[in-house]
Amino acid sequence: MNNPNIVIIGAGYGGIMTAVKLQKSLNVNDANITLVNKHSYHYQTTWLHENAAGTLHHDRTRIQINDLIDTSKINFVQDTVTKVRPDEKKVTLENGELSYDYLVVGLGFEAATFGISGLKENAFTISSINSARLIRQHIEYNFAKYNNEADKKEERLNLVVGGAGFTGIEFVGELANRVPELCKEYDIPRENVRIINVEAAPTALPGFDPELVEYAMNSLEARGVEFKIGAMIKEVTEDKLIFEKDEKREEIATNTVVWAAGVQGNSLIVDAGFETNRGRIPVRDDLRAPNYDDVFIVGDCALIMNEETERPYPPTAQIAIQMAEHTAASLTKLVQGDNHLESFTPKIQGTVASLGHSDAIGVVFDDKKLFGWSASAMKKVIDNRYLLKLGGIGLLLKKGKLNLFK
Ligand SMILES: Cc1cc2nc3c(=O)[nH]c(=O)nc-3n(C[C@H](O)[C@H](O)[C@H](O)COP(=O)(O)OP(=O)(O)OC[C@H]3O[C@@H](n4cnc5c(N)ncnc54)[C@H](O)[C@@H]3O)c2cc1C
Repeated sequence: MNNPNIVIIGAGYGGIMTAVKLQKSLNVNDANITLVNKHSYHYQTTWLHENAAGTLHHDRTRIQINDLIDTSKINFVQDTVTKVRPDEKKVTLENGELSYDYLVVGLGFEAATFGISGLKENAFTISSINSARLIRQHIEYNFAKYNNEADKKEERLNLVVGGAGFTGIEFVGELANRVPELCKEYDIPRENVRIINVEAAPTALPGFDPELVEYAMNSLEARGVEFKIGAMIKEVTEDKLIFEKDEKREEIATNTVVWAAGVQGNSLIVDAGFETNRGRIPVRDDLRAPNYDDVFIVGDCALIMNEETERPYPPTAQIAIQMAEHTAASLTKLVQGDNHLESFTPKIQGTVASLGHSDAIGVVFDDKKLFGWSASAMKKVIDNRYLLKLGGIGLLLKKGKLNLFK
């Protein structure tokens, strides 16, 4: 084979880390590496809820890709992938086509809407810089509009979040901090604004330690968040949300529903004809797609099983980064003529969910529970560690959360 063409699609945690690792492990003459991404920037998806609430500007969250890659080793193409054609070893872009010898799919997630009526059309999702910026501006617009109308519309000030999993809880935590600032700015009494979290499961944060869940709910309720637990969203319209709880239907007047209750892999992987399970590819031990020795899947498009729990690992940035490091090592071996690839096993170093400002909950080092400022500081350490790994000390100083206690 001449120099192989390695094409990486998506520059999220999985894609960008694969590129950054490959540029260290391969020489210019070893392979032609192309990275494709919709935008000129990589963003930290794990900070998007802060951008959406307006507690952190989106420019802190995004990093120009050309500042992260060595352009003498990696060709960056800003374009949108429209089709993956694994049988032809090609990727179709909006403005062209690429052929590959090895493909790394890191196209991330999409909201799973479970067929709920009106959800796709009327709810927001926190999935990109653009979608987060839209939510922030929509909320601010409603606050600004409220005192300009004779009939004060309560739907403008009822902020509903669907789902009390990781993302939903992190977002209501930020809203709880942001709403008092917005009330002050737009002369609206705090008691006129509701932040309502609607969750179908019998508990918030399913799967988390019950003591941590209780702490999180107490902290959020103390800051004005209302929980509707065991409540199934049935319909979302332009100005209301309908849910069913204890066999009773209830309505909330709202024009702000943020759906944070489920993700699936990017639908392009289903269209490509890969074997999928609930929108994700059940990858082989070495992260290659079933039946395709030349296609690696990293991040939220991949499904891997936790043998202890016999359930899939939840998709996380932590696992996406580890998959990228593993895939870069595998590709380096293949390019150097070694076909013996190692199996991938994620090393879960901990899970920390922010509750806004300097509050959080988490479990680290296997079973150590953290609450409050210590968990919040740990979350910032995790984020800073990623920036250091991705772009060194310069990136950490530019974008990091250096004050661990704020
Ligand atoms: C609000 C929020 C908070 C979270 N908090 C945490 C946390 O604290 N810890 C944790 O571990 N995980 C967290 N997660 C989950 C984590 O963010 C995801 O698991 C992670 O982003 C997956 O990485 P990825 O590389 O697969 O995809 P992404 O990071 O989603 O990246 C996908 C990339 O592909 C690009 N792309 C998509 N489609 C196309 C296309 N057609 N053409 C070209 N480019 C395309 C996108 O622009 C993006 O750059 C959180 C998620 C959210 C939404």
